[in-house]
Amino acid sequence: MKKYEVDKSICAGCGACINACPYGAIKIGKDGKAVIDMNKCQQCGACVKICPFNSIKEVDDEIN
Ligand code: SF4
Ligand code: SF4
Repeated sequence: MKKYEVDKSICAGCGACINACPYGAIKIGKDGKAVIDMNKCQQCGACVKICPFNSIKEVDDEIN
């Protein structure tokens, strides 16, 4: 299973990923950075492609 993570040290809070996510899984947190709700994420990868700063990474979730 894949997991998607926002690198908060890079994220600019631009919101592009929020608009790109077909499943409404991303929001901006209190710190102004994107947060992915993995309960809603369907692992489509759209956010990874759209982020202008390459701050969203696809990582292998070794637990699953
Ligand atoms: S991988 Fe797809 S479903 Fe998951 S947060 Fe990114 S755009 Fe949304
Ligand atoms: S598109 Fe990238 S920089 Fe913009 S809010 Fe999403 S993760 Fe942050």
